[in-house]
Amino acid sequence: MNLITTSKPYNSFEVAQAQFDEVASLLDLDEATRTLLRNALREYTFSIPVRMDDGRVKVFRGFRVQHNDARGPCKGGIRFHPQETIDTVRALAMWMTWKCAVVDIPLGGAKGGVVCDPHNLSAREQEQICRGWVRQVARDVGPFTDVPAPDVMTNAQHMLWMLDEFETLQGGRHPGFITGKPVGMGGSQGRAEATGFGVVFTLREALRDLGLEAEATRASVQGFGNVAQHAIRLYQQLGGTVTCVSSWDQAEQMAFAFRRESGVDLDRLLEIADRFGGIDKEEARKQGYDVIPGEAWLEERVHILIPAALENQINAENAGLIDPSVRLIAEGANGPTSPDADRVLKERGIYVIPDFLANAGGVTCSYFEQVQSNMNYFWEKDEVLAKLDVKMTSAFAAVSELAKKRRLPMREAAYVIAVSRVAQACRDRGWV
Ligand code: NAD
Repeated sequence: MNLITTSKPYNSFEVAQAQFDEVASLLDLDEATRTLLRNALREYTFSIPVRMDDGRVKVFRGFRVQHNDARGPCKGGIRFHPQETIDTVRALAMWMTWKCAVVDIPLGGAKGGVVCDPHNLSAREQEQICRGWVRQVARDVGPFTDVPAPDVMTNAQHMLWMLDEFETLQGGRHPGFITGKPVGMGGSQGRAEATGFGVVFTLREALRDLGLEAEATRASVQGFGNVAQHAIRLYQQLGGTVTCVSSWDQAEQMAFAFRRESGVDLDRLLEIADRFGGIDKEEARKQGYDVIPGEAWLEERVHILIPAALENQINAENAGLIDPSVRLIAEGANGPTSPDADRVLKERGIYVIPDFLANAGGVTCSYFEQVQSNMNYFWEKDEVLAKLDVKMTSAFAAVSELAKKRRLPMREAAYVIAVSRVAQACRDRGWV
């Protein structure tokens, strides 16, 4: 995958730390607080031996990083990815801390991962990886310490296998251990939609800030997975037109973009997408799409860009290719914009809804799931999505207000709110 596109290898953790350093200076944080928050409180790296279907044993590398739990139990997804590294997990764990703080939910930040490619693993092999991951960290995670969830290439089934392993080891039923479970097995209604819908709740508010009507806007989306699909759905319901989506082609090991001037038909595209969000090129052509290089999603003449695939997709090399018509970027993915590119966006006056605000709908709904699981009482979908809208809208309003008041870009304003809350919790606990 296109993770390394700049001359210096991209390192998410360096980016996360640089972003933190900037806000720490803005807030004039003392040295101890800076040192504490620049790094994770705890990190676990481990091996997961799995007997593969062909009888051989393969050993996978697993991670769990708990960045900070001053405001509540750690929370964060588990990513299965062939290019997963401890630094990516560290960055994502730190971003989780800020994400939970900016939407003001009583949780800290963590992230996990396994270096593997589910495309090439049978269901049984994936189950063994899930169970092995839990066996290695069962002592250090749990409903009141650290609550995992799905991320890239992990889903509700993976979460259920992990829960089952945890409950087998602990004895009893502990549905609050993990979120993103299947509905009916401790999962929350609305979790599947939550991240993508959350992106669009903030997008709706940002359009209001910019004085734009959703019906009069066009958008281009990178990615066609969980986040992208639901973001497209709600944005289209608001009346917006998506003219381009891009996704990863596993067979060709490269991304392609699918462009249709009249707008994409989400349901028909879903019919020709695989479970990883890869789109069938031949079928897409039959549906009237131009199949173009994956990077071209960024060059579309649209008002809105929604990167919803992976980190470092808008970088120093391609930021200049963004069309002058683009007014707004809603970061569905974690860390999609490199700091260099961020500077270009600022200079061009492009309004950015930063990742840890825009995509916080997922963790907010995960928090609702945890609450429902712990009380063993589950809400209707409308109730979940209405509560999600309230949380996302008020978080957006607080960030936007601070941005205007202190003349800060949205990313800095979101950081100021999040880091202040976490630093205060560390001080209140007497840690620093
Ligand atoms: P997913 O695995 O469901 O989908 C990822 C999509 O990205 C797939 O369609 C894949 O084809 C596409 N993709 C991968 N590489 C690409 C490339 N180079 N160019 C174009 N498309 C590419 O993952 P997801 O859950 O939708 O997550 C997407 C992003 O959102 C990640 O950064 C993730 O960390 C973040 N995120 C997800 C959630 C959640 O609840 N799922 C919550 C917060 C943040």
